[in-house]
Amino acid sequence: MTNVTSPNWQVKDEQFVWHSMKPYNPNATMIVQSSKGAWITDIEGKRYLDAMAGLWCVNVGYGREEIAKAAYEQLLENTYTPLSVGHIPAIQLSEKINELLGDDYVVFFSNSGSEANEAAFKIARQYHQQKGHVNRTKIISRYRAYHGSSMGALAATGQAQRKYKYEPLAPGFLHVSPPDAYRANEDHIQSKDPCALPSVQAIDHVMTWEMSDSIAAVIMEPIITGGGVIMPHDSYLQGVKAVCEKHGALLIVDEVICGFGRTGKAFGFQNYGIQPDIVTMAKGLTSAYMPLSATAVRREIYEAFAGTEEYDFFRHVNTFGGSPAACAVALKNIEIMEKENLFAHSAALGATLLTTLQEQLKEHPNVGDIRGKGLLIGVELVQDKDSKTPLDITLVNKVITQCKEQGLLIGKNGVTVAGFNNVLTLSPPLIISSDEKNFIVEKFVQALHSIK
Ligand code: PLP
Repeated sequence: MTNVTSPNWQVKDEQFVWHSMKPYNPNATMIVQSSKGAWITDIEGKRYLDAMAGLWCVNVGYGREEIAKAAYEQLLENTYTPLSVGHIPAIQLSEKINELLGDDYVVFFSNSGSEANEAAFKIARQYHQQKGHVNRTKIISRYRAYHGSSMGALAATGQAQRKYKYEPLAPGFLHVSPPDAYRANEDHIQSKDPCALPSVQAIDHVMTWEMSDSIAAVIMEPIITGGGVIMPHDSYLQGVKAVCEKHGALLIVDEVICGFGRTGKAFGFQNYGIQPDIVTMAKGLTSAYMPLSATAVRREIYEAFAGTEEYDFFRHVNTFGGSPAACAVALKNIEIMEKENLFAHSAALGATLLTTLQEQLKEHPNVGDIRGKGLLIGVELVQDKDSKTPLDITLVNKVITQCKEQGLLIGKNGVTVAGFNNVLTLSPPLIISSDEKNFIVEKFVQALHSIK
């Protein structure tokens, strides 16, 4: 047990720990002592409802004894086996993921969302090579998207502020604009054909002009999360899938945040009636109790790697990926989600949270849009509703600080390019109660009124 009365934690933290995003993140000055359910307590003893579930990841809430026990028991039963060999928790977890995905996939394990995406890019490129299509190397993603911090995942990311000091990144990544129901609504499109959506045509055009047979894959989240909770048209993903098929490219869906109930279904793509070729997942897979990620690949893609030559197999190893304890934790985490019906709870409570906020903030002059699905909600702040000009960042930060003072932790997302980091985000643990939802509404609405 750490000594909570020591006056030195803040000083030592400043001295030794390199925090991500500090001082950009207004919540960065907190040192956490403990956590339980949806709540965390700092070393001063102040409690906060964590309406971001850490980094959109503690889906079953903090402090679950069953999960800690599953890790403990598995570490004693079998501490480590690399996945060049087999172990039972990895087999059971792959089967479970397959069941949740609702089709026939084979699962490759890594440790983080970035790594799951890196594996997906390499699998997509090698798949085409195995098929004899050696020029299919380019990967298309969207502006505003975030896919991770490693050189390939960052290359796929469409947020210039995260990239420009680290270039050159991995080559071969192209970007298109995402659909955006608030700023570029596509509901007026008359045709029932999803490929008629301008945001889908943008991908079709890039594939045509770059030459179809140079494209390996498209990667996208079902709903852009960190880029500002940007909602697609309901048939967008169907259109993208059709365009990928037309041009022979694979569709990789990044479920690192949207997966495991965040949008009210096991996976976000299940809201939109498609089945991806490759699905990447992390965060909610273990609810952050241990690092683990997965790249699930449709069987026919996996089978292209079945040749007998040395260069036919997927030459990609990570030491810790799919460790027995991490897989045991994921299995227990998913068991809890199913037992407590958390996907349906997220859908129902998220819908109520969304409509309550929409009603209570309807007249607020700086609230441009409130959107989301399940317990994934974005509130876009603007200078005024007509111009939709992003609200000044100091006012956006003021809301976050007000919430924090009142015991509520929320997020700020978007892209700093052109001031578009103006979306407040809510992504609480999926276990929140109706009272906790009311607490979020009360403190959030109060904080927004403080900037009027
Ligand atoms: N993909 C998405 C959509 C993410 O939001 C993130 C992280 O926030 C990642 C990938 C990268 O995951 P990790 O931080 O585990 O590498």
